[in-house]
Formats: sequence, structure tokens, C-alpha cells
Amino acid sequence: MIYLDYQATTPLAPEARAAMEPWLADDGFANPHSPHRMGRAAKAAVEVAREQVAALLPPGGRVVFTGSATEALNLAIQGSGARKVAVSAIEHAAVLDTARACCELQELPVDHAGLVAPDAEFAAGTQLVAVMQVNNEIGTIQPVDALAARARAAGALFLCDAVQGTGKLAAPAGADLIAISAHKLYGPKGIGALWVRDGVDLKPLIHGGGQEAGLRSGTLSPALCAGFGAAAAVAARRCEEDAAHVAALWDAARGVLARWTLNGSAEARWKGNLNLRLDGLDVNRLMSECRGIMFSAGSACASGSGRPSHVLSAIGLTNAQAKSAIRLGFGRFTVTDQLVEACAALDVAAREQGC
Ligand code: PLP
Repeated sequence: MIYLDYQATTPLAPEARAAMEPWLADDGFANPHSPHRMGRAAKAAVEVAREQVAALLPPGGRVVFTGSATEALNLAIQGSGARKVAVSAIEHAAVLDTARACCELQELPVDHAGLVAPDAEFAAGTQLVAVMQVNNEIGTIQPVDALAARARAAGALFLCDAVQGTGKLAAPAGADLIAISAHKLYGPKGIGALWVRDGVDLKPLIHGGGQEAGLRSGTLSPALCAGFGAAAAVAARRCEEDAAHVAALWDAARGVLARWTLNGSAEARWKGNLNLRLDGLDVNRLMSECRGIMFSAGSACASGSGRPSHVLSAIGLTNAQAKSAIRLGFGRFTVTDQLVEACAALDVAAREQGC
């Protein structure tokens, strides 16, 4: 079995698991918001984790822990109170659907390579612009610094969904709000964060005990925070090593699958994402014939819906082309020989379909 779905989620780093264990042990259960000694120890662990996560993000802001990046994005969009927003056409549903539900929406198009124009025009009166750092389906890296500068010049806040880029690329320094998720950077599921630039005013979505300085009520899990923090610290340390490993994996996989067509820019991309298509490929059949390979059709969220991916449609693919695409995602723990073997098996299975 080989796991090639690193955009859906990453394996838990051993360092993250080790950091979580004390807070899952018999005497590690205290509420970090309790004033007694056990509570204060738990709170200290939460604050260490907050600093470790903050180290991946720009200076001049604070980290608010949430239950997921989806929640962080909802807090950013709804909490900002913006009524008029501009978002890229290839955002994750957590941005697109929230913006559709709550705001007047302008969709910023992408070109055939899957990139938003760095000089995109925002409609008059736009209050918030949201463009992701790295796309989860096709891996393209957006010109977020240029877009953040344009948003600022237009008097709008800039929100960056940096879920797929954090720990891999430099943080989007010009953003006002940044959403991230632990389970995409080798941390645990069930925790994300919103980075909020100092001076940006947000209203809470979840009311209650007033935790997270009143922005996100609810008892924090010290275990999840500690795992997130440790994963962030490892990512900061291994950033270059991880990128070099992923680039070598990309070359190896691309070598085997050279006849497949790449979706999205070959240059402006995170190389741990290989989104490919072959005309006429029946992806469901490929998946059932290659059950030992954990890969995805389009994005994990859209898979199974029967709808062609909105990202592949936005880059100009026909429905048939979009439905003939697969996404291979690899990272820190992927072994080159296993990846090559899996790619060869996928290619043989595709040829047996006559593709
Ligand atoms: N944004 C992007 C780009 C993602 O890939 C994902 C997860 O698939 C999310 C947001 C949502 O993250 P979470 O699972 O933490 O809610």
C-alpha cells in the first residue's frame, strides 16, 4: 500500500505524536482555562504551541486556535463583517461557499495555468479579497504578495488560505488574515488557526466562555495544540529538506508518467502535487484496479460528488478532461522507489483501458 494523498491530509509526524502524549496521559487532562496548577501547566503547553505556530507566520499578529481551517476561514470572512468580497475562482469550498452564503461575491478568474493575474481588478467597494497560497487540487502557487498589496491599495483586507503552503513556503507576508490547518503539515486533525494582523477587528462566530481573547469560545485541547505546535516546529526546521525531497519525488514520478498531461503550471507550483490527466481515462475504474494506491480524483472534497472539479473547469478543461484527471500527492514520508512503482502500476492500468 502506498499513500499518495498528502493534500487531503498528511501522516502525523512522530514529533507531533510525542508532544501530544503527555496531554492524553492519566494526569494530563486538565482544562487549560482552569486557574489551578494542573490547569496552568496545560495552559503553558498551549502557549508554547501558539508560539511555535506563530513562528511559521508573519510578525505583527496573533494566532487564534480554531477547530479546523474551515472554521478559521469562516471566522475571517464572516467575522470581518465584509459584505463585498473578491475571491479566486479556484478557492477551497470553505472560502467559496462561505463567501457565496454571506457576501456579494466577485470571482477572480485564473488562466489556463491555474494562476490569478497579479494585477487582478477588484470591483469598486470590495472590502475583503481572498486568494489562496497553494491550490489544493493542482498545486499552483498564487501571486499572493502582489494581490495583497493591491487589496491594501484598494482599502480591502486580504485573506490568505495558506493551508497547503504553510511550513513549505514563506508565509504570505502582506496578508491581514491567514488560515492554516495542523493536519496538512503533519500535525493532528481537529485543530487549525487563524492568524490575525494586529489592528484587524473581527467579531466572534462562536460565543461562550470567551476563550481565545473572546474570538473563539470553547475549551482548547492541550493535546491538539501541542501536536500542532510540534509539527510547526519540525516544519520550520525541515522546510528546505522537505522541499528538496519533494522535488526529487516529483522528478521521479514525472519521469514515469511523462506521457500524461500536467494540469496547472509546471513552474509556479508546489511539487508535492502532481495533477495529471489522460484523455478517455476512467478514473473510477483506475481506482478500483489500483486499490493499493491511495490517490485522489480531483480534490478529496469533490470526489464522489460526480461533479467535475470547479478548479479543473476554471483552468479551461472540458468536463470529460476534468473527469480524466488524478491527483498524486506526496511528501516527507514518501519513499522514491515506492512512488515509482505506484506510478508504473497506474500507467500500466491506464494502458489496459486503452489510454
Ligand atoms: N483550504 C484548503 C486549501 C484545503 O486544502 C483544506 C482541506 O482540504 C481546507 C481549506 C480545509 O481545512 P480543514 O480540513 O482544516 O478544515
